[in-house]
Parts: sequence; C-alpha cells; structure tokens
Amino acid sequence: MEDIHSVLDSIYNKFKDFEDIGEKATYIPELANVDERLFGISLTTVNQRQVNLGDAHQKFSVQSISKVLMLIMAYNLEGDALWQRVDVEPSGAGFNSMILLELEKGIPRNPLINAGAIVIADVLLSHYKDPESEFINFVRRLTNDPTVTFDDKVFESEKGVGYRNYALINMMKSFGNIQNPIDEVMDFYFKICSLSMSCAQLSKTFLFFANDGVDPITNEIILTPSRNKRINAIMLLCGFYDEAGEFAYRVGLPGKSGVGGGILAILPNMYSIVVFSPKLNPKGNSYRGMAFLECLTTELSDSVF
Ligand code: GLU
Repeated sequence: MEDIHSVLDSIYNKFKDFEDIGEKATYIPELANVDERLFGISLTTVNQRQVNLGDAHQKFSVQSISKVLMLIMAYNLEGDALWQRVDVEPSGAGFNSMILLELEKGIPRNPLINAGAIVIADVLLSHYKDPESEFINFVRRLTNDPTVTFDDKVFESEKGVGYRNYALINMMKSFGNIQNPIDEVMDFYFKICSLSMSCAQLSKTFLFFANDGVDPITNEIILTPSRNKRINAIMLLCGFYDEAGEFAYRVGLPGKSGVGGGILAILPNMYSIVVFSPKLNPKGNSYRGMAFLECLTTELSDSVF
C-alpha cells in the first residue's frame, strides 16, 4: 500500500499542472459551469485502504458512469433474458450515435452507450413503481452513505437539450424495444445521469467489482462471480465510447467514463480507482484522466493483461 500511495502521489504531482488540451462537455449547459482545473483521484483497495488526492472529495456529475449501476440492477432482475433487448458488442461509434440503431432494428449495441442505457432505464421502469428511489437507495447502500443524491440543476439542464436522446428512444420505440411511456423513461434516464458523487465515494461504490462481485466491507453479494466477470468484460469492451480499444491498449483495465470528466477503472483482486478532471478529448473521455491512468498502470506494471 505504501508503494501504491507514493506512486500515486508522484504521478499526481506530475499531472497536477499538466497542460490539458481537452474541452469541457458543453452540450449539457450546466456542465460548462464546472471549474475545469479540478483534479481528483481516489483509489480503494479490496483490503479497504483508501488513498485520496487533490479534489477527491469534490462532487461532480457522474453521467455515464452511473449506466453501470443501472445495468447491475437490471441484470440481477432479468438475468440473461436482458440480452434480448440490448447486445454486448463494442459500438465503434459515438456514445449518442443513431446509425447502428437503425441498421440493427432498435437493439442497441451495448448497455453502456446512451441507447443501451435508455433500454435499461425502460427495463427498470417495468419492474419498479418508484425506480428513482430504488436506484438511489442501491447506490447509497454500496457507498454506505445516505447523503448521495442527484443534481437537479444538471437534470433540468440536460432534459432541456436532450433532443438526440429523445431521437434515440423514438427510434427504439418504433422497433418495439421500449415498453413504457417515452417521457417517463427519459426522465428516469436523465435523473440517473445527474447522479452527483465524489471520487472518494465512487471508488468505494465500485469496489465489489475488484472482489468477485462481493462487497469486501459488508460481504454482501452484489453480483455472482460469473455476472461480475461479464460486466467487467462489457466495461473493458464498451466502457469508453468509440475509444474502448485505445483505453484497453493504453491503460489495460476495465472501466467506464462519463462526460462529466470522471473515469472509473478496476484492477481485479486489487483495487478500484476513480479519476476526475473535467476536460475531455474529442471522443468524450477525460483527457488528463486517461493520461494519468496510462501512467499509473505503466509505472506499476499492473493491468488485466
Ligand atoms: N447524460 C449524457 C447523455 O445522455 C451521458 C453521456 C455520457 O456521459 O456518456 O448525453
């Protein structure tokens, strides 16, 4: 642990004043207001040690990282029947792309792009009377923090400009792959994207992925080992929009990014790590976050390969 701590410290110092040529996500107006200098890191090990650096306690908009949490809930409710509604293939296209959706008759390529997560939101809506409470309670339980909440400003801001996401759901509805009213599904989807958490909270929330699906603190089984392996595989292949190959090549860990500037990554049997830095590369992944993780796994010679 001392080793990881000092390596993290020295890489953090190296990247603190890094010349970040990325751009904040401005297509959601509220995200344009975030301080672009923020930089936080949190790593939690399966033996429950946590290292927090920089703005690790600063809350930010989790955005697409929360798609993984929705997916866990839906997979545990539906089992493998879920894959009739959404595939598990990398998309090779942008996170909000329409093209493949039409060619593939309303079945999204995977649950971690927008179209796939909208289907997952629809699945949860079919199972729960109050999916929003079910979702937030699930996250609070994983984080062991009852204060975790949504950011209503981000929710309203995104809902007001969500034209493309409405286009995606309409296309899927036309192919019969949406069961609930469009506005209800979209409100729930935008709520989930507006989840607001810090790196320190998130690295704790996702720790079970590094521990065969079992929360190492409470011993609760969140996913069976087989399902845990499958979702890790989906994250590796689909977690970084159309840059999943590049992330696997440079970093070598399963994970998920969000347009809020967060990146989650998992080293099985060892740790979960979350990096937050708001400026994004052209593919929508945190520019400094990705460079930081590449440096970390290179210096520690740690990856899944
Ligand atoms: N809420 C965002 C959207 O639907 C999520 C994008 C992301 O983080 O990938 O556009």
